[in-house]
Amino acid sequence: MPSTPWPRPVLAANWKMNLGPAEARQFMAAYLAQPPARHAGSMIIFPPAVSLVAARDAAAARPGIQFGAQNIYWEDKGAFTGEISAPLARAAGATCVLVGHSERRHVFGETDEETGRKCEAAARTGLTPVLCVGETLGQREAGETETVVLRQLRAGLARLTREQVAGALLAYEPVWAIGTGRTATPADASTTHAALRVAVGVILGDPHHGVPILYGGSVNPGNAAALLAAPGVDGLLVGGASLDPASWAAIAASGERPD
Ligand code: PEP
Repeated sequence: MPSTPWPRPVLAANWKMNLGPAEARQFMAAYLAQPPARHAGSMIIFPPAVSLVAARDAAAARPGIQFGAQNIYWEDKGAFTGEISAPLARAAGATCVLVGHSERRHVFGETDEETGRKCEAAARTGLTPVLCVGETLGQREAGETETVVLRQLRAGLARLTREQVAGALLAYEPVWAIGTGRTATPADASTTHAALRVAVGVILGDPHHGVPILYGGSVNPGNAAALLAAPGVDGLLVGGASLDPASWAAIAASGERPD
């Protein structure tokens, strides 16, 4: 796991269950044909596992782009049909892995305990875990946002050493904002990011830690700049709007900073 700070903004694309190997190659060719964003910080693309090698190879001309797996199982190998392990993801070119994405939690029933095991497996293999946390609409309306995301945060990081926590990434993704077209306001994002940042500071014993916290949930080229400008938002995790090379390039350009 890299212990060096991630250049901001950290822009992450979650392709979910879209873009097979040939489409991944086409996407990368179209994206790389556009002028690179200036000072674009860090970029991580999370293709489906079957497209990892194709996407990574197609981006060889832009070595700064990192690739990640969307999920792993916590055992390294064995009779776990249908799963991929952290070492297998690494062998396919992943440097990072999403853990606890809301679709894993709410469609596939992944528990807090399982996210902890997955973060542990990622960290011991040298993959950077990108731990996703977020509340449902009901939890938000019940005033439970902070309780829920802090519980998910502590459980996800529970098995990591302090050094591994310091090397992790977090993504705040309100469940009600994912794939719905409904986005948290920059102020809402800042409030929850601040609570997460303080909680990580307590775990690390360092309130000035550099763990990046990304926002995700219906980010698009029209709202990316405002979200990136919100205090405490270190980057974006983007689903639907990352599937089109022009839209992804426009989001990357939102992260440009003046010379
Ligand atoms: C996601 O998949 O992490 C996500 C935020 O999706 P979308 O941008 O489509 O809401």
